[in-house]
Amino acid sequence: MHIIDFHTHAFPDLIAETAVPFLEKKAHISASHNGTVHSLLRSMDMAGIQRSVVASIATKPSQFESVLSWSVSIRSKRIIPFPSVHPEDPDILGHIEVIAGVNMKGIKLHPYYQKFVLDEDRMIPVYKKIEECGLILLCHTGFDMGFPRDRTCDPVKIRRVLDRVPDLKLVTTHFGAWEDWNEVERHLLGSRVYMDVSYSIGRLGRERTLRFIDSHPREYILFGTDSPWDEQKRAVEVMCGLGLDDDVLRRIMGENAAELLGF
Ligand SMILES: [Zn+2]
Repeated sequence: MHIIDFHTHAFPDLIAETAVPFLEKKAHISASHNGTVHSLLRSMDMAGIQRSVVASIATKPSQFESVLSWSVSIRSKRIIPFPSVHPEDPDILGHIEVIAGVNMKGIKLHPYYQKFVLDEDRMIPVYKKIEECGLILLCHTGFDMGFPRDRTCDPVKIRRVLDRVPDLKLVTTHFGAWEDWNEVERHLLGSRVYMDVSYSIGRLGRERTLRFIDSHPREYILFGTDSPWDEQKRAVEVMCGLGLDDDVLRRIMGENAAELLGF
């Protein structure tokens, strides 16, 4: 089976040494590896994962260049980097074009770390530009372990964004919105919204996970782990142990992602 992990993180070697322990402490979780691309590739080998989307988050506008040049440097047959832009960047629209110009597949945004609200007016041109450039937007949605539970990027706001930019290839994370799954059921489930399944099944539980998969268009569900915050091998085993029909499992584990990424 061809497996694509649509949601992982990695850091430049020197930054990983400090970033991973810092993030572990902030979110009270422990990482499954040291956060370098080398460790991610080893983790992929152990889990039988062929390709991973590696999502970066620019926490200030000035990080655009370094995030992009690192993304270009790690790109390979197995590593699909999603660089980032910052909402406060005065040249954000130009920088989205630069990302598309070097043939990246997508962009990662994180409302909590980048201090924006998903559906605020200033973000709409950003989403439109991402869509026009043919890029995918992988955006953190739902609550985040490292932050207070403000409704910054919840299912109602996802709905509003898609109403305003209907062709945006938006991939929501954590089954639509982390730990906000009643709202996901109310506003997203069953409609054509991409969701990765990362860091959720343990909390959703097996029955509810199966119900979610059953109620959602199966082309819109993507395997993801949020590695290093979850272990890839374990996450693959959990998905494969759900007892899904083979064709549904193959779609979720890789075929949907391959189509979306244009492979
Ligand atoms: Zn993540």
